[in-house]
Amino acid sequence: MRIDKFLANQNIGSRSQVKQYIKKGMISVNGTVCKSPEQKIDENTDLISYNGTIIGYQKHHYYMLNKPAGCVSATNDNLHTTVLDLLKGSVPVKSLFPVGRLDIDTEGLLLITDDGELSHNLLSPSRHVAKTYFARINGLVTKEHIKAFKDGLDIGDDKPTKPGTLVIKSANPDTSTSEILLTITEGRYHQVKRSFEVLGMKVTYLKRLSMGNLALDEALAPGEFRELTETELQALV
Ligand code: URA
Repeated sequence: MRIDKFLANQNIGSRSQVKQYIKKGMISVNGTVCKSPEQKIDENTDLISYNGTIIGYQKHHYYMLNKPAGCVSATNDNLHTTVLDLLKGSVPVKSLFPVGRLDIDTEGLLLITDDGELSHNLLSPSRHVAKTYFARINGLVTKEHIKAFKDGLDIGDDKPTKPGTLVIKSANPDTSTSEILLTITEGRYHQVKRSFEVLGMKVTYLKRLSMGNLALDEALAPGEFRELTETELQALV
C-alpha cells in the first residue's frame, strides 16, 4: 500500500495533509525519514511513525455520531445531507456506512463504521440487540401503555412487536403530553412512531440513546462525532 493512503486510512490526516507531513519529514518508515508519498509499505510488518510515535495498523474504524435532525442515514443522497457528509473533511469516509437507519427527523446515536461483520451482528434480528429511545409524545402515556408494549403491539405487520420496555419519565394531564424511554429489540421501519400511533398518540421528538452496550456520549452535540474508545468497542463485539 502507498504510505499516503495508509496514513490517511489511519486518520492521520487527509491525503493532502499527509503529503505535507511527508514533505516536512514528519513520517518515518522503519526509522528512516520517508521522502515520497508514493513509497510502498507493508502495513503488517513495517514500523511507520508520525512525529516519533508509531502508528498501529487499524483494520476497521468506528465512530459514534450524534445524528442531528434533517440528515439522512445513507452514504449518499441527491437531496439531503447524509450522515457521512458530517464526517467528511475530518476522516476518510470512502468505506464507511451507518449501522442501520434513523429517520430523517430522529436524533441520537448512530454507529458509523467500515466493519461489515459487526454491522451485520448488531442488525441481525436473531441477536435481539436492545435499542433505547427517548421520546416526547403528544398524548398521556399511562400504565396501560406500559403493559401494551410489554405484551407486543399489532402495528400492521405480519406479527406483533416483540416485548418492549416503556418507562414514563413524565406525563402532564394539563397539556396531554408525555416524555418516555422505550427499549425495543427489533428495528422495524418507523417502529417507535408506528407503535405510538396505534395507541392513538404521536411522537413529536425522537432520540436514540443506546444500541446494545453502546450509549450515546451526551458530550456530543447534534452533528458531532468521535471515535469509539477501545472499551466501548470491546463491549459491542
Ligand atoms: N423508530 C422510529 O419510528 N424512527 C426511528 O428513527 C427509529 C425508531
